[in-house]
Amino acid sequence: MDKILIIDDSAVQAGFLCSILSEEYEVTSCQNAEDGMRAAREGEYSLILLDIIMPGVDGFMLLEDLKQSEMTKHIPVIMITSLSDIQYEERGLLMGAVDYVTKPFSPVIIKARVNTHIQLYHYQTQFRQQAMIDDLTGVANRRCYEQKSLAQWQEAIRFELPFSVCMFDIDKFKLYNDTFGHPAGDRVISSVAKTVSAYFRRATDLFARYGGEEFVAVLLGIDAVSAFEHLKTVRQAVEDLHIQHNSPVCEWVTISVGGITVQPKLGDSFDTCLKLADTMLYDAKRLGRNRVVWSNANAVQWFEK
Ligand code: GH3
Ligand code: MG
Ligand code: MG
Repeated sequence: MDKILIIDDSAVQAGFLCSILSEEYEVTSCQNAEDGMRAAREGEYSLILLDIIMPGVDGFMLLEDLKQSEMTKHIPVIMITSLSDIQYEERGLLMGAVDYVTKPFSPVIIKARVNTHIQLYHYQTQFRQQAMIDDLTGVANRRCYEQKSLAQWQEAIRFELPFSVCMFDIDKFKLYNDTFGHPAGDRVISSVAKTVSAYFRRATDLFARYGGEEFVAVLLGIDAVSAFEHLKTVRQAVEDLHIQHNSPVCEWVTISVGGITVQPKLGDSFDTCLKLADTMLYDAKRLGRNRVVWSNANAVQWFEK
């Protein structure tokens, strides 16, 4: 059942809306903007019904916050207006509200509008998800990575969290294709993606196919040594798949991993950070492959084996 959030300082109006919608939807209501914002961030709502006139933070200010936050900006917002503040509709719609309903409410109209916007939200969500997924492996694609990694970088700056990024590359994969054929190679890329993605399941983790036989991951909130240890486990898990290869590196398919953990500050460059991770990957290859090489911002390096 889809979830709807009503943000309205009038308990009577919220109650009335709730009675109209609760047959088909799971409805929650909040009586002020702060509670509304918190609920919107945490609750996976498919729609928000937002009253404009509220004491303190009003509907416009809250709408602006909702549209600015990565976590809430896609949730459709229908503004609730009364006939006397009909002039506000224009402002609300320009700010990104999808629609408005006018007090006093017509239950039939509200239901119809809510149904339409929830259906549109589903189409949009599906489209957005498909555009973010790599066809071959089903994990996030590079576009998704580019979008989300930057948001995570900013999150790390804001909350002063350690930020780790690492690059993965399948070892001697050209040789694999040459030996076993391209379709078999595709299956290896999928298996590696599936195995590795199981190690990046937290809400703040990101794992994506970067392109070809290369992957990228972002971790938030863990220190360099823990990140290094985690990636060692991941690298071992790929080796433990025991996919026959017979390369000069190992009899099984393996990956090399290069990563870095930093404490980013405002003005630091994410690109520089990624380049350093790439340098660590290069080192992992140079030192013999099937290993993890990690670094922190102070040029300390950790090597596996
Ligand atoms: P290294 O250990 O240095 O990474 O050696 P490598 O052979 O893996 O590196 P190289 O970059 O020379 O080759 C990567 C190979 O990956 C070449 C390409 O044929 C293969 N490849 C890239 N994308 C795909 C894909 O989608 N499917 C398959 N089957 N192979 C791919
Ligand atoms: Mg490569
Ligand atoms: Mg490779």
